[in-house]
Amino acid sequence: LLAADGTVAATIFAEMSALAQRTGAINLGQGFPDEDGPAEVLDAARRAISDGVNQYPPGRGMPVLLEAIAAHQQRFYGIRLDPQREVLVTAGATEAIAAVILAFVRAGDEVVTFEPFYDSYGATIALAGGTHVTVPLLAPDFQPDLDRLRDAVTDRTRVILVNTPHNPTGAVLPRATLELIVELAERHDALIVTDEVYEHLTFEAPHVPIATLPGALDRTISISSGGKTFNTTGWKIGWVSASAANITAILAVKQFLTYVNGAPFQPAIAVGLGLPDAFFTGIAATLAAKRDVLSAGLVAAGFTVSQPAGGYFVVADAAPLGFDDGAELCRRLPELAGVVAVPITAFVHEERRAGYSSLLRFAYCKKFELLERAAGQLAGLG
Ligand code: PMP
Ligand code: GLN
Repeated sequence: LLAADGTVAATIFAEMSALAQRTGAINLGQGFPDEDGPAEVLDAARRAISDGVNQYPPGRGMPVLLEAIAAHQQRFYGIRLDPQREVLVTAGATEAIAAVILAFVRAGDEVVTFEPFYDSYGATIALAGGTHVTVPLLAPDFQPDLDRLRDAVTDRTRVILVNTPHNPTGAVLPRATLELIVELAERHDALIVTDEVYEHLTFEAPHVPIATLPGALDRTISISSGGKTFNTTGWKIGWVSASAANITAILAVKQFLTYVNGAPFQPAIAVGLGLPDAFFTGIAATLAAKRDVLSAGLVAAGFTVSQPAGGYFVVADAAPLGFDDGAELCRRLPELAGVVAVPITAFVHEERRAGYSSLLRFAYCKKFELLERAAGQLAGLG
């Protein structure tokens, strides 16, 4: 995890945000919203601090949040959870991913993910000494070839790690693919770990948690977070739901990673999870409109765009503009267009970068006027 010179290599997101800050360019690199979320949620955190909710909360998470997570899973997906035994609060989805991988993956165990993959997957699999096996998602639709998926899962597979809606591609896995994943996990006795941080940000159809598929619940570990749903990425309140035995194994790791996290933010996220349906449909509709503004701008600028079905990001191919090296283009984009993006090669193992070299990820979780300004500036690229 260290750079060749022994220093800590900054994540691509930190590097690109620093580039935006240094150059004053519009930051469509790191995925975080530039507006606050619902006032009820923010007020609840302020109130909790005033009310003295400032010391270590319980190890599993505060009962009010555990109950709100269970009620949310029941309300949106019909999943029944025992809040005291089948839910665990974590420091964002990031800690959940690390704790789950460290809990279940031993040296030599294989973990199957799609590729491109969110950066922490590769890092935590490496920390656990696991072997990372990937199934490619290719432009333009970024859906996996199901035969390649079948080939990737074997008796050596300990975990199939799924992420839908997907970062960085915006792909949403259809039910048939989720069913195949459940079938393969059953056949090879693997766990399914599912990262659903964008569960409320789907644009075509409601999110289908893999845990709701027949036969999936017992072997599935579901991960989500309040960051994306409530525009509170800096609060780092995430959670895991799974069988009681699996939660116990994950808690055993979590207690030595952070012990506990974010006391006053926990009751606030509980308020968020209980907001009326209109809130949840509203955020998806607004984000879809933002996606459309940025996608149209990218198309007008000459990129080939893969329209995302969910999440924060759109992938644009710069090859039609004559740029074949996306990493190089991202370094120059502040000067060429006053915009920062992230190269898709940052989400891909070195040996597979060639297949993704001209692709860029742009975040549209930003104010409309900023997206319109970015679109205008990018129009000068061609
Ligand atoms: N998984 C995915 C797919 C993400 O995009 C992110 C962050 N945006 C995370 C996990 C991390 O979530 P958190 O900020 O809650 O740790
Ligand atoms: N998940 C966000 C992204 O993909 C950023 C998270 C981070 O900086 N680690 O941009």
